Amino acid sequence: MAAFGTVFMPEMALTTFEGNRWSDAELVNAQAIALHPGAHVLHYSSTCFEGLKAFRHADGSVHIFRMDANIKRMMQSSRLLSLPAVDPVQLGQMIIEVVKKFAHDVPEQPGSMYIRPTHIGTEAAIGKAAAATLSSILYVLLSPVGDYFAGGAKPLRLLLEEDGMRCAPHMGMIKSGGNYASALGPIARARDSVDADQILFCPNGDVQETGAANFILIDGNEIITKGLDSSFLHGVTRDSLLKLAADMGMTVSERNISVEELLTRAAKANTEAALSGTAAVLTPVGTLIHQGRDYAVGTGLAGPSTLKLRQALNDIQWGKTADQHGWLTRV
Ligand SMILES: *Cc1c(COP(=O)(O)O)cnc(C)c1O
Repeated sequence: MAAFGTVFMPEMALTTFEGNRWSDAELVNAQAIALHPGAHVLHYSSTCFEGLKAFRHADGSVHIFRMDANIKRMMQSSRLLSLPAVDPVQLGQMIIEVVKKFAHDVPEQPGSMYIRPTHIGTEAAIGKAAAATLSSILYVLLSPVGDYFAGGAKPLRLLLEEDGMRCAPHMGMIKSGGNYASALGPIARARDSVDADQILFCPNGDVQETGAANFILIDGNEIITKGLDSSFLHGVTRDSLLKLAADMGMTVSERNISVEELLTRAAKANTEAALSGTAAVLTPVGTLIHQGRDYAVGTGLAGPSTLKLRQALNDIQWGKTADQHGWLTRV
């Protein structure tokens, strides 16, 4: 099985912003874009992206999960990066058009079609370190993906990092390339030094998120996760799981969690922790590493609430239960 995100459909949807307007979107070859070496994105990282999925139901129909939420976040990222304003109607049409074109290639359950809208500043202007690009391209790439948990979902080891941060605080809620580059060094060091899978960034003791997923703590019937502020990425999966948890009668607490509280709660037998994101849905966290010591979270294994929430979300995505929140768009 190819690694996640390394197989692409041969065409993508693309539109160009030039002279203050978006061109009509087209399906084009997905292997190539023409970019000037002086393009704004290559020097000043004017780039943002989205990640969402389309799912094949048992009757063969194909459905995109929470497209509107992802489009909204793309508009927000573009605005906060001073990229041209994305037209939400056009982007929605592009996503639907390209998924429709490759509907036959959407994998069967447990696979799905990962959708990657990407927006980059293209103006050839290396003097614009402190000014916005006037031109950009927005494209929608497709990548069929398999079961993220093939081989079993081994609970993750997370290093709690209190000194550094994932990215600059004002960039936290932007899904932008530079943020991931900023976290790479610390994550690589955490892998080498303490065999961590990811870093849970906790600047000044405030539990935020990992390099590419939100952090969720479950203590009995309560689900606890950091409340929305501009310091971290507002995951659509996070939002969906919180709504499903409320539907199940769980208490949803969106508030700050300190490292101290996290470690105290982790010591209790019925505590669970997990990472949420589109790629992995909800991945159990088994161990927290703090100041050279390992702390098991609850039993250290995938907990029942984590599995129940993941199942509930998957059941909606694959059309096995009613889509009560109106999260699916049929292509
Ligand atoms: C994409 C992402 C998430 C998860 O967002 P989803 O919308 O749930 O996929 C969380 N944190 C970061 C930093 C991300 O890039």
